[in-house]
Amino acid sequence: DLLINQIAAGEVIERPASALKELLENSLDAGATDIAVQLEGGGIKRLVVRDNGGGIAREQLPLALMRHATSKIASLDDLQRVASMGFRGEALASMAAVAQVTLTSRNADVAHAWKIEAADGTQSDVTPAAHPQGTSVEMRELYFNTPARRKFLKSESTEFAWCEETFKRIALSRPDVAFSLQHNGKMVWQLAASKSTPSPYPLPEGEGFGGLPSPSGITSDLPARGLSRLASSSIRGIEGEEKHSLQQRITAILGPEFGQHAVNVERQIGPLHLYGIAALPAYSRSTRDEQYFFVNGRFVRDKVLMHAVRQAYQDILHHQRHPAFVLFLDMPPEQVDVNVHPAKSEVRFRESQGIHQFVFHALQDALSATMG
Ligand code: ADP
Ligand code: MG
Repeated sequence: DLLINQIAAGEVIERPASALKELLENSLDAGATDIAVQLEGGGIKRLVVRDNGGGIAREQLPLALMRHATSKIASLDDLQRVASMGFRGEALASMAAVAQVTLTSRNADVAHAWKIEAADGTQSDVTPAAHPQGTSVEMRELYFNTPARRKFLKSESTEFAWCEETFKRIALSRPDVAFSLQHNGKMVWQLAASKSTPSPYPLPEGEGFGGLPSPSGITSDLPARGLSRLASSSIRGIEGEEKHSLQQRITAILGPEFGQHAVNVERQIGPLHLYGIAALPAYSRSTRDEQYFFVNGRFVRDKVLMHAVRQAYQDILHHQRHPAFVLFLDMPPEQVDVNVHPAKSEVRFRESQGIHQFVFHALQDALSATMG
């Protein structure tokens, strides 16, 4: 049984970065506005995510660590159902199966926090603890009980790089939340929250971008604008503090040069809304990938979207093999399946050809505006 748990857990928690992604998403789900990450040894030795969200009630602590699906993996049919549910309720249980986990949490209006520890399929009692309102999840010694698996982990610095990338993706998607990241006791990222509305996703219908002209030609007559000039006019389609906070977060993470050599992307047709920033060739950057695409607020890596973007760059600028961009596509949730696999960032569009066209033309318009 423990073995089955460990195998299943390895699917969900492939490396420290997958644990980090799950924990950050849990903190956001809990309404946190401040999230602090502490890593040691690339997150293999120790990974802590502390938030100021709603917390977990004492009696819920043991449940939070339990695999909802234990009974479900009895048959193939059940396995498929678990997969189709996107492994809901699997993350903490999976971590507890392959690492030592301590869960400390405090609700509002209780005298103190409570904590529970789990490792090797057993749970401790719930005991009193000190913690402000919110939750800390600590994961130690990933794969300590599955050495074969641990051997597949890369070096500390590589695992840290994956964690950092995961952190940046989530921080880009939520500029309204403060994030920090420490590695081996050193502060690596400290990102202040903007003062905008709690969650930009989903954008409320009719709000913010209600007054836009008809979709065709939205961007074609706009001059090229870098982030430095965006302060007053900025990304169209999302209004006021929201767009300002997104720019701030993008600048904080990608650096000011990115915005100085970039154009706005903005297009809306019916319920489809694409907005963000795409860098021009003048943006000289390191070799690392800076390609951030978010669908309904979730980071995705999708062939259809990537192809549309690359094709637009090729058509207009002829030579940019690894364009840098931060793009947000908001669309009706029923038109896209984002839960193909929790540990991967894949999506499946109902109308992938239409989405491709939409993204391609939006990028084409934005980039051709720079050609004079
Ligand atoms: P899921 O997120 O799919 O429900 P998880 O294993 O990630 O499954 O978490 C199990 C449960 O533990 C969550 O449903 C939630 O009730 C609780 N939980 C986990 N992390 C937090 C957190 N940071 N703050 C509040 N509750 C949490
Ligand atoms: Mg979760």
